[in-house]
Amino acid sequence: MEGVLAVDDASRDAVSADLGNLSSEKPGAVLRPGSARDVAEMIAFCREQGIPVSGRGRAHTTFGQGLSRGLVVENRCLNRIHSLGPDSAEVDAGVLWRDLAEAAYDRSPRLTPPVLTGYTGLTVGGTLSVGGVGGIVGGLRTGLQVDHVRELEVVTGTGNIERCSPTRKSDLFEAVLGGLGQCGIITRATIDLVPARERARTYVLGYTDGDTFFRDLRAVIDRDGVDHVYAEFVAPGSTPTFTLLATAFYDSPAPPDDREILNGLGASPDIQDRGYMDHVLSIDDLIDPLCATEGWDRLVKPWFDTWLPGSKLEDFFADVHPTLTPRDIGPYGAGLIYPQRRSHATRPLPRVPEPHGSEWMFVVDVNTVSETPDPEPGFADSMLARNRRLMSLTRERHGGVLYPIGSVEMTESEWRDHYGDAWDGFRAAKERYDPDHVLTPGPGVFGAPGIAGEV
Ligand SMILES: Cc1cc2nc3c(=O)[nH]c(=O)nc-3n(C[C@H](O)[C@H](O)[C@H](O)COP(=O)(O)OP(=O)(O)OC[C@H]3O[C@@H](n4cnc5c(N)ncnc54)[C@H](O)[C@@H]3O)c2cc1C
Repeated sequence: MEGVLAVDDASRDAVSADLGNLSSEKPGAVLRPGSARDVAEMIAFCREQGIPVSGRGRAHTTFGQGLSRGLVVENRCLNRIHSLGPDSAEVDAGVLWRDLAEAAYDRSPRLTPPVLTGYTGLTVGGTLSVGGVGGIVGGLRTGLQVDHVRELEVVTGTGNIERCSPTRKSDLFEAVLGGLGQCGIITRATIDLVPARERARTYVLGYTDGDTFFRDLRAVIDRDGVDHVYAEFVAPGSTPTFTLLATAFYDSPAPPDDREILNGLGASPDIQDRGYMDHVLSIDDLIDPLCATEGWDRLVKPWFDTWLPGSKLEDFFADVHPTLTPRDIGPYGAGLIYPQRRSHATRPLPRVPEPHGSEWMFVVDVNTVSETPDPEPGFADSMLARNRRLMSLTRERHGGVLYPIGSVEMTESEWRDHYGDAWDGFRAAKERYDPDHVLTPGPGVFGAPGIAGEV
């Protein structure tokens, strides 16, 4: 073994919860791998013994998706950037997107991953296992992060190390990208890089009137010169209720044409102009201080996250927004809307909604955060009940599809419905690559969480 297998209490306690602080599971052992071979050997051993195994990135999912009472593989230990070429990078799965973005930007000419999540202190393996929506870069003219992967190295549930791509073992490639760790642990990925601009100009517009906000949101996502858009919302009654953030990337001395970008919009903007990497790290600059001053990572986070077809966004808000109270988001939480162009999302997983006549789809997050680490009794249960209610409403009435990063309880049959016509292929890949169902029991996709024995 090149790495370490830890069985002491402190190591096991340290990985027994995730960012949600809603569930806990103390593993029997923690693998800090030194190589993919270490992961392969331990998975083969666990398979023989019937011990469940979960990969762990930053554990920033919020409902036990990466917890296990068997073995937890700390992928952060595999954290080397192996190569940075002119249009791609080969990296270990435990590399943080922040570190890849910084290394790519330091090159000459400057490069960037085409899609970056809002918070960039997440692992490559962790976001590729859920999808990776462009929270701060990408979405309007790109796919998800999973759409910009060329090749993967994966350790399967049989303990084999495989290389896969769209042309080599494509069934494994497709089952692992957005596959919630069900068929393999990603150990390396080759990821697209594209030229990076020098600066980012963000137009921040506030709204109390929903109609004007949605009209402007739809206008800017289709506007030439706008490279990234997202929006924030709070419960009704606070001002502004909606905030639209549209960003144009540029090289000096050729700034974007403000008048063209703002033409016809119904709010006056606050304009923020900063370097490209300051833009990329702008959400990290909000979250990281909250962890230091408010213990943000220890607060309770019953997050609700759904995909919506483009044509259903306003209907969803008409139904759901009036039901939200300030407690549904909390002073340290966020309501978020991310647009994604459908034609660039090409992989069978993660699941996204039917088109319902629109080229656009949106991720909507009600990212509830408690005010203290020990909120009033019943807080978590009532928010989890809200999430189930919201999920069935949005599924039935708005064609919504779960984005499985948050805290929505799902039964096995709900998972089957979630995967729809991809279910048979996904299950076949599970039987081929993890026939004993050793991997990632947390979400309960192929059975109840926490199956099988202990170390
Ligand atoms: C502040 C914040 C902002 C966010 N912004 C965005 C955003 O803009 N867009 C977006 O799409 N998401 C966003 N997310 C959600 C985020 O993408 C997911 O929670 C992601 O899974 C977190 O990565 P992680 O490294 O913490 O993964 P983990 O939570 O550690 O793992 C996620 C799941 O994948 C499995 N897994 C982990 N590593 C591997 C691996 N190498 N191989 C196979 N399976 C593995 C785990 O077992 C678990 O089931 C955000 C989350 C936070 C906390």
